Amino acid sequence: MSDSGIRVGLGHDRHRLVPGRPLILGGVTIEFELGLDGHSDADVLLHAVTDAILGAVGLGDIGEWFPNTDPQWSNANSAHFLLTAIDEVRKRGWEISNLDCTIHAERPKLSPYKHSIAARIAELLRIDVSQVNVKAKTGEKVGPIGRQEAIDADAVVLLVRSTPTS
Ligand SMILES: [Zn+2]
Repeated sequence: MSDSGIRVGLGHDRHRLVPGRPLILGGVTIEFELGLDGHSDADVLLHAVTDAILGAVGLGDIGEWFPNTDPQWSNANSAHFLLTAIDEVRKRGWEISNLDCTIHAERPKLSPYKHSIAARIAELLRIDVSQVNVKAKTGEKVGPIGRQEAIDADAVVLLVRSTPTS
């Protein structure tokens, strides 16, 4: 089987917006009256990025690695999930070329946070901020995003071989 030396991975996630929880997106805490519900810290963006990274190397998904039935992940910092995933990827001889993400949220307005979110993800992944792009879209006031019932995130990652294949 030929190895092209590149791999693509796709991630998607959704969490419900509820009162009484913090809103954490891409490792950045955002001032808002609602937060995301979930077993861990519910960082919908880091979950999508983690799934993209795991998917690119055929390592399944975040739910297999960190089951939400496992009490050790209760209120867990999702950075741990991302760091575990990138570690596994690097162990297998892959490196991130670039990462592109979209956050779907009606509110709050995320444009003031996009750069700090990209910078935080780059820092966690130990890559340059120029390799990370964060976009934000609203739900146009319709559907679960538009009604502020949930926030979604999408991520796509491109990996390149960091070590020569034998
Ligand atoms: Zn999630």
